[in-house]
Amino acid sequence: MGDRLAHLRLAWQIISAIPDLIVKQVSPVYLSDALLPENAADDWNQPYLNLALKIETKLEPLDLLHRLKKIEIDIGRKPAKRHWGPRIIDIDILAWDDVIIKEDALTVPHSSLQERPFALWPLADIAPQWKFPLEGPYHQKTAAQIVEQWGSRFSGEAPFHTRQLYQRIDTPQLIGVINVTPDSYSDGGQAFDPDHALQQALSLVEAGATILDIGAEATSPRASLIDSKTEWQRLEPVLTRIHAARSEFCVVPIISVDTRRAEIAEKALAQGADWINDVTGLDDVRMREVLLSSNADCIVMHHLSIPASDDDNLPRDQDPASLVYAWAKKRIDELVKQGIKREKIIFDPGIGFGKMAEQSLLLLQHAQVFKSLGVRVLIAHSRKRFHALFTNKPAHERDIETATAAVYLANQTSVDYLRVHNVEMCARALRMNAALFPQ
Ligand code: ADP
Ligand code: MG
Repeated sequence: MGDRLAHLRLAWQIISAIPDLIVKQVSPVYLSDALLPENAADDWNQPYLNLALKIETKLEPLDLLHRLKKIEIDIGRKPAKRHWGPRIIDIDILAWDDVIIKEDALTVPHSSLQERPFALWPLADIAPQWKFPLEGPYHQKTAAQIVEQWGSRFSGEAPFHTRQLYQRIDTPQLIGVINVTPDSYSDGGQAFDPDHALQQALSLVEAGATILDIGAEATSPRASLIDSKTEWQRLEPVLTRIHAARSEFCVVPIISVDTRRAEIAEKALAQGADWINDVTGLDDVRMREVLLSSNADCIVMHHLSIPASDDDNLPRDQDPASLVYAWAKKRIDELVKQGIKREKIIFDPGIGFGKMAEQSLLLLQHAQVFKSLGVRVLIAHSRKRFHALFTNKPAHERDIETATAAVYLANQTSVDYLRVHNVEMCARALRMNAALFPQ
């Protein structure tokens, strides 16, 4: 129940912190129908997300089980009156080498594992050579072998319509961009119509986005500025359409609205937006007031002038990461002093805003420094001008460079979010990378 991906991510983080236990690998996420007991209430029939962790530990199985049960409660699971009802988290032990346990409190391998693609597929992703230890038709067959009976991991034709999703919990989360503008520098004009915007939103989430960033005003150097009336006229129909369709998504996306105007932010939050992405980094005190009186997260971006100007850049003879870090520290301290909670802030160093190409590149190389600001970090490098250092392709053909940088950021830094135009390509690159470099 609730933000299922966030609960899985939290469980992984808490399990990783158990002493005497190392998480070696995280599987992809699978979506499946609920496995329901007979006469289950209708509202129990909600799709589930599942994944598996490969761990190494000196703990005894029962000791581990008790710790996992405690983590479920810490995350917020309430004791159920009936078995198999919807819950916010469930952490089970699927398998333990060739160990067989048949006790009241613990059955290993997990009961009916071989019949449940939502459990055995993720297990096969992280332990393909694990051998099924119980007698019967699967005795000594490997996990990779047993899952072959279900065909493609992606078709949804397996039992419980189980299929793999493109979202992962152990890589930076992807923010898909929906530009409700005629003149965005890389993909303007495509989402002007609400139906079209919803289709784009659905495909972005299907492709691996967990957040959608909807913006109606372009702020790049060559974009034309609009007034607030036009901004809301563009934004409202798209925002309300996507918000109303939240239940149609395979995972409910967080909705971010990209605006620098307090009045637009206020209206957008009233229409269901979860985040405000302000490219002026909350320069406007009224924006701070709007955020203070809401529960929204806000993206605070470093910039010099908005719209970005080709002539207004950081000094070229200093380290851009230190300059941007100093700005961020001051700005965040100021916001926290004014009552905005640190947990609500996401910092974005503003690649391409007031930075020359080589400075944008340096910021990517040193993105790890922003971790010590104590807030979440977002990087938006997708298709931007600094790519001209590496390619003469136009903005909309810079996705291979964008995806390569995403892989670098996933491996070398702990940034939380990547805002990208081609979510599908980035998600695919990050997934192959995660499979090749297990953590
Ligand atoms: P679910 O059956 O959906 O996992 P619970 O988490 O409430 O529901 O589990 C019920 C009980 O199943 C637990 O209290 C635990 O003692 C028992 N159990 C048996 N085998 C296992 C296992 N391999 N992993 C986790 N729990 C198990
Ligand atoms: Mg359980």
